[in-house]
Amino acid sequence: MSTARDKIRQKFFPAEVTDVNHVSEHMFTLRTTRPSTFRFESGEFTMIGLDTGEEIIQRAYSMTNASYDEELTFLSIKVEGGAFTSRLRHIGPGDELLIGRKPTGTLTLDAVAPGRTLYLFSTGTGIAPFMSLIQDPEIYNRYEQVVLNHTCRFKPDLVYDTYLREGIQEHPLVGEEAAAQLRYYPTLTRDSFERTGRITEHIADGRLWQDLGLPPMDPEHDRAMICGGPSMLQTLTDELTARGFRAGDRGEAGDYAIEKAFVA
Ligand SMILES: Cc1cc2nc3c(=O)[nH]c(=O)nc-3n(C[C@H](O)[C@H](O)[C@H](O)COP(=O)(O)OP(=O)(O)OC[C@H]3O[C@@H](n4cnc5c(N)ncnc54)[C@H](O)[C@@H]3O)c2cc1C
Repeated sequence: MSTARDKIRQKFFPAEVTDVNHVSEHMFTLRTTRPSTFRFESGEFTMIGLDTGEEIIQRAYSMTNASYDEELTFLSIKVEGGAFTSRLRHIGPGDELLIGRKPTGTLTLDAVAPGRTLYLFSTGTGIAPFMSLIQDPEIYNRYEQVVLNHTCRFKPDLVYDTYLREGIQEHPLVGEEAAAQLRYYPTLTRDSFERTGRITEHIADGRLWQDLGLPPMDPEHDRAMICGGPSMLQTLTDELTARGFRAGDRGEAGDYAIEKAFVA
């Protein structure tokens, strides 16, 4: 007789963890095998699950890998006392991770119209879907420039800092395009750093465009995607709306897109 747990398991592919990297006190990255029929579009998320033997605990996670990669990668927060991450943080190579069969999400290229500059605004683990998007060759066909902002509190939480400054330029498929078209714009709110403060402050006083040598964002030419904490999401959405940007969705491309389901 099949149990409720068996029924839930059917919604997942079993995968095997191949690598875990505790990059900071607050975050870690995970790599797993890729189920052969698992397909997703750059920027999507899926449910990932842990089978405790009694129940399956599941949470939404964005894939950070390119949609064509042979393995799957994720970036995870460590929530103190969190039902899912207090287990997930102890996972290691050889362990099972369940991968939801139905990836979805609104941070995909079809949710925003093509244009001049695409701004990707993220805080914390909100950078996850953008790591996948910037490895998609299509993003460089659709936009002249891609600006990737990552705001964190502490330096070690800028998990992809070295990769975004140097590594991606060696990427076999998009390295050349990334070198020419991708602009990385990190900022920290707690540690001292080359750039500090919230991204909303950099927008409010125009430092963002001054630093990049670009004209201020204009809905006629520019597009944006936002992923991160609720207060940044709200402030940026208000800011873009005030500037005349229209929200987009899959099937109805707009000037900007947010991950509606993203809570933190
Ligand atoms: C569409 C979507 C995509 C997501 N993608 C990711 C992802 O790629 N990586 C990831 O780590 N999490 C992601 N999350 C959050 C994730 O689903 C869980 O909330 C997270 O794993 C914590 O689970 P938990 O049970 O330990 O704590 P929960 O009980 O789920 O969360 C407890 C509290 O911790 C805070 N919190 C939860 N997640 C985060 C976070 N990522 N950053 C900062 N604070 C947080 C919130 O205040 C939340 O109320 C995503 C959520 C959604 C809805």
